[in-house]
Amino acid sequence: MMTALIDSFDRRVRYVRISVTDRCDFRCVYCMSEDMTFLPRAQVLTLEELGLVARAFTELGVEKIRLTGGEPLVRRGIDSLVEEVGALPGLKDFAMTTNGAGLGKYAKALHAGGLRRLNISLDSLDADKFRRLTRTGNLSKVIEGIHAAREAGFERIKLNAVILKNRNDDEVLDLVEFSRHEGLDISFIEEMPLGDVSDHDRAETYCSSDEVKALIEHRHALLPTAESTLGPSRYYRMHDSDTRVGFISPHSHNFCDTCNRVRVTVEGRLLLCLGNEHSVDLRAVLRRYPGDIEALKSAIVDAMPLKPERHHFTTDGDVQVVRFMNMTGG
Ligand code: SAM
Ligand code: SF4
Repeated sequence: MMTALIDSFDRRVRYVRISVTDRCDFRCVYCMSEDMTFLPRAQVLTLEELGLVARAFTELGVEKIRLTGGEPLVRRGIDSLVEEVGALPGLKDFAMTTNGAGLGKYAKALHAGGLRRLNISLDSLDADKFRRLTRTGNLSKVIEGIHAAREAGFERIKLNAVILKNRNDDEVLDLVEFSRHEGLDISFIEEMPLGDVSDHDRAETYCSSDEVKALIEHRHALLPTAESTLGPSRYYRMHDSDTRVGFISPHSHNFCDTCNRVRVTVEGRLLLCLGNEHSVDLRAVLRRYPGDIEALKSAIVDAMPLKPERHHFTTDGDVQVVRFMNMTGG
């Protein structure tokens, strides 16, 4: 069997993001509606199935795995899954995206299990505003989580901030100062049109990376770098700090040409592109051939020609893809 995943546009897939749950203890306004119905347990991959999926991808040459959700730290047994994935040969970069609220509890176990990089979502440093954006989140718990992660040995922790106009665009500089002070990297993300979110009109709240960058440059010159973490961020540095500032701009800067990743949803659907519906049902394979890694690897290899050339997001507020972000794994 071939051991590398190459698509029809000669892009090699080296990075997979796996969603381990659709559930979350937050209800961020750009991600979920207030009343979410979550999937019945039987439709969600078991921990054993998730472990096998991760192993299959590493055997096919994937070097980077990110666990996400939903909120990965609300999945029971996440520490044992991390330990299993952390021990896979061939894995060079093992990361998680989390809202940070569970890190006080889990940071040590995750680091001991081999997880090495954390992206922590943080959109506001004002407790009230944080609560309004997340609907249920507690800012101090997240700050404690960041500190617990650092104490557990995580290095180069990165914050992710989604910036919405008139909601938190006035906090861009505060978030940069916080990152400099705490020794963190930070990426600013443009809101993506995933799922029909009733809280706000996306055309009105859309804030481009160029606008965010201009706000930062009022105070700090941003020097472009060629650094990459196999992700879609474009990175900049400041001359007087170690902090990197990244921009993830699916609207204004298309990054499809160099796309090297795929996603696995919490239901085991392999998504070849975040902005398209093409997918392959890996859960069906897992349940038809339990424990059979070769069958799983064949299904993944056979899916490669489905990876489309590019996505087609727009900023006019239209919803082109109706999945919520917590289902696809952000
Ligand atoms: N619960 C974890 C967290 O919040 O970090 C992991 C899952 S969350 C879906 C992953 C990332 O997606 C977060 O940084 C979040 O801010 C971002 N996100 C969610 N909905 C988004 C949207 N509509 N547009 C852009 N980013 C979004
Ligand atoms: Fe939960 Fe993350 Fe979505 Fe916020 S962005 S609701 S923390 S999954």
